[in-house]
Amino acid sequence: MKRRIVRCRLCGEKFYWDSEKYQLEDRQGAVLYDWDWISPDGPFFAVRGRKYGLVCPYCAESFHYYASSIVICLPERHNPITIKVLDGVAFDPDENFGSLPKDVENAVLKIARSLSWTSVDPWRGFYAPKYKGNGWVLAYDGWHSSCEDSDFSEKANRIMKNPFVIDFPVIFVICPTSNVFSLSVSVFVRRKDAEKLFELFGDTYSFGMRRVANAASA
Ligand SMILES: [Zn+2]
Repeated sequence: MKRRIVRCRLCGEKFYWDSEKYQLEDRQGAVLYDWDWISPDGPFFAVRGRKYGLVCPYCAESFHYYASSIVICLPERHNPITIKVLDGVAFDPDENFGSLPKDVENAVLKIARSLSWTSVDPWRGFYAPKYKGNGWVLAYDGWHSSCEDSDFSEKANRIMKNPFVIDFPVIFVICPTSNVFSLSVSVFVRRKDAEKLFELFGDTYSFGMRRVANAASA
């Protein structure tokens, strides 16, 4: 039996890993139900560089609660593809990455790399992508309630539920803020499709969402 101590690449916590049983145990000896690797060809991958390493079950779980979501809506797919990003690591549960149009994947990687925390004051802030350009434009951004619907969220949800209602790809980026009742939202499209998105959403006054002026000609 090969039992050795491994370290989670995200939180640094130490675990016993039994390579024959493919199981992790925490320091109290409890067998943990799951383990995963950060590697270029699995559900977890580094958005920068080629980082390999173990993701502990607690960190894997935290992707569901604390990560930013990049929701990729492609008209040729009937379901949106959601990639979660936390601390420079992406989680692609259905392993769709690698089979998407190349310019979409490039935009997603650049968006994921550009996600950063903006501090409003010592207690408050939000995550948002700082990515701009390269054929894709930021068409809408701002904040939205996490529990109330609006004209904007109804239109966005319609696309996210059925991407085939549009004939061009849209990337929604939904990030946590320090306020659990508000989300930071950014919407990217190819520059040539920006006008079509503006026709769909118009000037929005839903919560803090705004149309980015001159996105089509930026
Ligand atoms: Zn961890």
